[in-house]
Amino acid sequence: MRFLVTGCAGFIGWRLSEKLLEEGHEVIGIDNLNRYYDVRLKMWRLSRLQHKNFKFIKGDIRNLKLIEELSRENFDAVFNLAARAGVRASVENPRAYVETNIKGTLNLLEMCKRIRCKLIFASSSSVYGAEDVPFSETSDTSKSLSPYAATKKGAELLCYSYHHIWGTDVVALRYFTVYGPACRPDMSIFRFMKWIYEGKPVVVFGDGSQKRDFTYVDDIVDGTLKARNCSGYDVFNLGSDSPVQIIKAIKIIEREIGRRAEIIFKPVHPADIPATWADIEKAREILGWEPEVDIEEGIKRTVNWFIENSDWVLKIKIFDSWKK
Ligand code: NAD
Repeated sequence: MRFLVTGCAGFIGWRLSEKLLEEGHEVIGIDNLNRYYDVRLKMWRLSRLQHKNFKFIKGDIRNLKLIEELSRENFDAVFNLAARAGVRASVENPRAYVETNIKGTLNLLEMCKRIRCKLIFASSSSVYGAEDVPFSETSDTSKSLSPYAATKKGAELLCYSYHHIWGTDVVALRYFTVYGPACRPDMSIFRFMKWIYEGKPVVVFGDGSQKRDFTYVDDIVDGTLKARNCSGYDVFNLGSDSPVQIIKAIKIIEREIGRRAEIIFKPVHPADIPATWADIEKAREILGWEPEVDIEEGIKRTVNWFIENSDWVLKIKIFDSWKK
């Protein structure tokens, strides 16, 4: 089969592309390689995608002309993982989020409508805001705490209207705090690993007791692949269903690296969700999906990757502001 993966040089899009190639499919990957975080990570991921069945297009999903050209080709499904991701940066630079996450998704919906192909859209647990946990797909998603969350919800709504009017098949997957080898440097697990490895103070927003439903990247990819079999319009949570306190994640990283962390606590950011926890009964039942990698094993694999690649990964900067 032939798939289009947007954001193929990104953390999850790369892993998804790798799995599709392993399954023997053809993958056309698009990424604009933006400088929101260090491009060395994106180039490293792309270097792992060298394969006769992989074609890379350095391009932008906001570019309607490019998407229209691609609409002359045939795909069995489009996986839209390209996005401006990152909650705090969306507060500083909301327009970039609207442009890619909403307008870019609109371009891909037009394409899917034209070539009658399915769209699998990477949404986020952040759409639930400060709702009570666990979040189920029927929980309220009307109170976004950040522009990022609002763009993901907005794109989900556009997906539904394309399904309603044109019959386009769309699956929106709400990912919960994804981590793993080559993860994003603006996310907590990467920051904690780097600071602990370098013996620098670890900055924690809040008192560290807040819980996150950390989900290992290969489990997310497995659920995303399973979503290919759905038709119509549907929404699924993909999370580990095992929330862990931030402080516990730090303890596991300390153990794997073999060094104690000096922690500095800072005030919580108002755009941050207080707690996340996925109710995944629907994905279990309909997709037959079950997360398999627990936090201990997942962090072990992530730290191993970090150490194996430390010669260049240590050069990646951690910023207080991710405005780019
Ligand atoms: P990422 O930033 O590593 O990957 C996104 C990729 O998209 C990047 O390589 C970037 O260069 C590319 N991109 C951005 N704008 C683009 C554009 N206009 N045109 C083409 N390419 C563009 O992020 P990720 O963590 O891999 O996230 C992948 C998807 O999953 C995103 O949609 C994100 O919102 C969603 N998601 C991620 C998490 C998580 O914890 N990582 C959680 C919930 C949802």
